[in-house]
Amino acid sequence: LSTDTTHSGEIGTKKKVKRLLSFQRYFHTSRLLRGIIPQAPLHLLDEDYLGQARHMLSKVGMWDFDIFLFDRLTNGNSLVTLLCHLFNSHGLIHHFNLDMVTLHRFLVMVQEDYHSQNPYHNAVHAADVTQAMHCYLKEPKLASFLTPLDIMLGLLAAAAHDVDHPGVNQPFLIKTNHHLANLYQNMSVLENHHWRSTIGMLRESRLLAHLPKEMTQDIEQQLGSLILATDINRQNEFLTRLKAHLHNKDLRLEEAHDRHFMLQIALKCADICNPCRIWEMSKQWSERVCEEFYRQDDLTRRFPTIEVTGEDPVLCENQKQIKIPFFKMGCFMTYIVEPLFREWARFTGNSPLSENMLSHLAHNKAQWKSLSPRQHRSRGGSGSGSDHAGPGTEDQAQTGGEGDSP
Ligand SMILES: [Zn+2]
Repeated sequence: LSTDTTHSGEIGTKKKVKRLLSFQRYFHTSRLLRGIIPQAPLHLLDEDYLGQARHMLSKVGMWDFDIFLFDRLTNGNSLVTLLCHLFNSHGLIHHFNLDMVTLHRFLVMVQEDYHSQNPYHNAVHAADVTQAMHCYLKEPKLASFLTPLDIMLGLLAAAAHDVDHPGVNQPFLIKTNHHLANLYQNMSVLENHHWRSTIGMLRESRLLAHLPKEMTQDIEQQLGSLILATDINRQNEFLTRLKAHLHNKDLRLEEAHDRHFMLQIALKCADICNPCRIWEMSKQWSERVCEEFYRQDDLTRRFPTIEVTGEDPVLCENQKQIKIPFFKMGCFMTYIVEPLFREWARFTGNSPLSENMLSHLAHNKAQWKSLSPRQHRSRGGSGSGSDHAGPGTEDQAQTGGEGDSP
């Protein structure tokens, strides 16, 4: 996998990126990063750091926002830059009387706790999920009810939802007897770790230390509930509840409880929205997911104690062939992504964004279908051109039990 996979516009912007990178040296020694509190209202990007990144931030609410380009323009600081901007534009810094330097320090901690060597579960994925979350928070059906606390929780949960992700999934941690699996008793192992790590950083940074204790306790609990909702194994539970609410028309968004539920759904959507992005970006994310699968598979082979069975798509011998990730991609889109986004569209009253996402999803599904047989042959697969890896795998994909949390 190349992280520099070409996509539209990249060649044209390379020169500009190169020029901008020279600003980064200044950026890294800026007043902000040296911990000096500015006297004047803070501009989130240093005055000298204008241009492409700042221009992109003006379009942060658009669905075709190119997070890969934004990450290059910010020299790998997409998560910090995006969050600072969103906290400011949503009025959260003012509302919660947040210290800008402390906020920045906290966000740097979060960003640095992501593993940049993970092809998929890295800070760019977190930034991408946060940008999607921002788009969902602006949905008219939801936006008019949201309080500043809801917005802050939504953005923080999105930013930190995969923090310190080891690049392997829960079945792997359980089978290798990892200490996190023991600590969390094999239940939402990764999500519990992401939540607890986030709380640790919040407390260490003292970002919310000036708020009443009951409020910070509530924030910590709600963050947990939001992050734990991203466990893909709980997909059916959330989908069933959402369907029931929409069927009964009993969502009362004036009430905190129901708003929290819709924040959970919004975060789940944001976390698995890759197949609803434009094809070039969706494809790049899929390649990254596959690369992470392959790496886990390589790791699996170094653990002789792990039982390799044909039934487990994660540890399957055939994993080296491209067909299972491609097959999984199709299953994932059909059985996990599409049902959730159809209900989300219902909730939003088929908003323009929802229609746009479903249209990308249909297009991307067709693209994968046309692409996969060719890929099978080129990667030395079975040569059958078949997408099917067996009914067992499909069943697991349908129930969301494959343990591969996006
Ligand atoms: Zn994620």
